[in-house]
Amino acid sequence: MDDTAPIDRAARIIDSEAAHIRARVAESGRRLQSPAAALTAATEILNLRSRYFGVTGEHFGIQDFDGIRVIDALDERLLKGLHEILKKFVAAHRRSPDLRLLAMLTEKISPGFTDMPQYPVAYMVLYLLRTAFDRFQNLADAGAHDLAELEHAFVHHLLGLVDKFVQTRERPVWRHFSDVAREYSVVSRLKCSCGDEKFDVKRQSLCQRKGAPPYDRLDLSCKACGAEKTILFDLPHFQDMYRI
Ligand SMILES: [Zn+2]
Repeated sequence: MDDTAPIDRAARIIDSEAAHIRARVAESGRRLQSPAAALTAATEILNLRSRYFGVTGEHFGIQDFDGIRVIDALDERLLKGLHEILKKFVAAHRRSPDLRLLAMLTEKISPGFTDMPQYPVAYMVLYLLRTAFDRFQNLADAGAHDLAELEHAFVHHLLGLVDKFVQTRERPVWRHFSDVAREYSVVSRLKCSCGDEKFDVKRQSLCQRKGAPPYDRLDLSCKACGAEKTILFDLPHFQDMYRI
């Protein structure tokens, strides 16, 4: 069996879906004339997730290592695209939002944000964003605030949430720690072929190789059936640790 094939397939899906996200971000970024338009653009970008979930699911199990890897990579692209759109809106509309409304939104629609891990994985942030959109809709429907002002504050609120994530993926050192934090999140989502979802990490080892960044090797065993599994994680930002 050719075991490089799934890796190639995964890379191809990531490349083509990431290109699709970039194209849609570029297109949506041209229609940001009002807070409402920015929120529509943000929703359109977030909705792209169902598309790459579908494409990935045709080739991989969504709870298999390859499937999780593809979804995580595309979730990150999606959040970076969303970040780009929100930043573009804020740069073009310099007026500050009503700070009282902004504080109210933070308290009422994203209380879970403080419970997020220091290095959240993209899907956690996407879940929080979905919840925020739902709660925002309820607030807007209640009609107690001027809608345009509320929307303006919400765009800033969203940018704040997404920016925290993007920083963990772009800042040197932070991005390495967030790669490592993601490893355990992947293990917690993996499903064994016996149907159980609980793998134990038996051993974690940092592996060096010549002329390339090191990688982590995790040896796992299923708590239910004892099946063993080894997964590898690239650590492309490992060198950050020596540059501080
Ligand atoms: Zn098992």
